[in-house]
Amino acid sequence: MAAQSGQYAQAYQRSVTDPQGFWAEQAHLIEWETPPQQVLDDSNPPFSRWYVGGKTNLCHNAVDRHLKTRANQAALIFISTETNEEVTYTFAQLHEEVVKMAAIYQKLGVKKGDRVLIYMPMIAQASFAMLACARIGAIHSVVFGGFASVSLASRIEDAKPSLIVSADAGMRSGKVVEYKPLLDEAIRLSSHKPTHVLMVDRGLANAPVTPDRDVDYATLKSSVAGVDVPVTWLDATDTSYILYTSGTTGKPKGVQRDVGGYAVALTYSMKSIFCGEAGETFFSTSDIGWVVGHSYIIYGPLLAGMATIMYEGTPLRPDAGIWWSIVEKYKVTGMFSAPTAVRVLKKQDPALLKKYDLSSLKALFLAGEPLDEPTGRWISESLGVPIVDNYWQTETGWPMLAVQRGLEALPSKFGSPGVPVTGFNIKIVSETTNEECAPNEKGVLAIMGPLPPGCMQTIWGDDERFVKTYWSSFANIQAYSTFDWGMRDAEGYHFILGRTDDVINVAGHRLGTREIEESISSHANVAEVAVVGVADALKGQVAVAFAIIKQVSAVQTPAERAALEAEIMKVVDNQLGAVARPARVHFVSLLPKTRSGKLLRRSIQAVCEGRDPGDLTTIEDPAALQQIKDCLAG
Ligand code: ATP
Ligand code: MG
Repeated sequence: MAAQSGQYAQAYQRSVTDPQGFWAEQAHLIEWETPPQQVLDDSNPPFSRWYVGGKTNLCHNAVDRHLKTRANQAALIFISTETNEEVTYTFAQLHEEVVKMAAIYQKLGVKKGDRVLIYMPMIAQASFAMLACARIGAIHSVVFGGFASVSLASRIEDAKPSLIVSADAGMRSGKVVEYKPLLDEAIRLSSHKPTHVLMVDRGLANAPVTPDRDVDYATLKSSVAGVDVPVTWLDATDTSYILYTSGTTGKPKGVQRDVGGYAVALTYSMKSIFCGEAGETFFSTSDIGWVVGHSYIIYGPLLAGMATIMYEGTPLRPDAGIWWSIVEKYKVTGMFSAPTAVRVLKKQDPALLKKYDLSSLKALFLAGEPLDEPTGRWISESLGVPIVDNYWQTETGWPMLAVQRGLEALPSKFGSPGVPVTGFNIKIVSETTNEECAPNEKGVLAIMGPLPPGCMQTIWGDDERFVKTYWSSFANIQAYSTFDWGMRDAEGYHFILGRTDDVINVAGHRLGTREIEESISSHANVAEVAVVGVADALKGQVAVAFAIIKQVSAVQTPAERAALEAEIMKVVDNQLGAVARPARVHFVSLLPKTRSGKLLRRSIQAVCEGRDPGDLTTIEDPAALQQIKDCLAG
């Protein structure tokens, strides 16, 4: 079995049997001002402290470190297809910009440990803002620019920033999205008030100004010309940032991350998973508001000495070839995106994929939600490069399941994000016995403590919630629950079967909504589907499906809809058995998703049961929930 004998297997075994030795070696991937005295302090589980006694700095390793060897190479490539800007910053120029931002922070009184909330569109200044925090030891909390006042207010309330960095506006699909009115309203809603709001004026909107509190970036920038801000050496265990989870399953959790462990883990991942080499270019289509943006737009590529692309725009403008034209122009070697984006592209003209020279590309990495087999196959065949599905969470900071092509190019299996990543001691645990499941048996995907470097330290301001939420699922074992169902096959490949809250119980049978969705998706006319469990007097719960149809014209009349519904039910009957058959299959044109593209099953379920849909602050388009309501009413 390849998975047990080669390079990967050896590295993996070592990483879980001798984590201290393994991570002591990886520590050399970054520069330290003072090397760590102790690799791991695990004396107070589940809190683990990596690289105790070590002093380092993320900004130093991402920027300053490269000045010796690649000062004039590209570091940050900002591309906006919204404003038609394209600017390349070399490492030397990036350094200069970050130092200026850090000088502005100091002028505004920001000190080590203070929080700086960053509410910005995908512009170069947002990355300066993040790296400047890292430089002086301020803790950043980036809030996705697409969020409105209520979501923003709850994060201001929780993180208590002394400074908020923002911009007059972002742009999406050619429309100006004003940020400042939303920010002002959020500050009004929050009981915590920042001392200052630093505004980047892009000249897109007339942002209202609150005197004394609001300050202008360009003005301050010219006032700090020539000021040097050396790196502040931080303890490896100091906090680098807070980032809130997507809120798919409930109230977002403020994930708190360290400095040293994160720097080492990301640098290690760039080599072993993303096959990234210094001097190459990485393109992650995510947003800095998400964990992928933190790890693989900003820190990871820069730590590795790569140029990173920061892209403001959609995958479809000026046409659906835009991403591939960027790959060609900048000779992108590694690209990172999400299945939801690939599904969008799949609906476009396939010729656009053939128009550009993609020979620089080594692989496409996809994460964030399950990569269904049809989508995976389509993109793999269209691009002709390996597709690397990788599974992780905001909490873990970097992938925990993947094929680590930088270690060994094990084959991929469609539908599986691969094998456990070195450092992650992953077990599939039975919910009933709390024992490890046998191959092909379904259980909860858990990580045995201690979590490897790069993972969350705790929930910001709430150690108790950290322990209760993540470490209390299993009796007798010290394990972190991912709250995802999983399964391991005989070769060690893992499969994600949905979230544990997405399980339904039909007449005593426990079914994952994800399995039913996969089955329905295999019908040729289904583009996408969401399945939820709805309370039922007789059976406890029944499955109800909401499907998006590929060929809408084929299901216009009630008779056509009924026929398709029956066909879909039959597919489920054949594949999973009659217990899994949905009680109803409704047809919609839109599904409720978070801004990060994840299905909001809990809200659909609530609407189906006539309950309040709960926290909707992270929903992409409220019209989608209205469609669900309309289906149920009709
Ligand atoms: P919240 O925890 O607030 O409900 P969330 O879990 O959606 O939000 P994230 O941390 O962004 O927030 O998402 C992580 C989750 O996304 C995983 O737990 C898993 O359910 C799903 N996921 C991520 N990558 C993959 C993947 N490659 N395959 C399947 N599922 C994935
Ligand atoms: Mg989660």
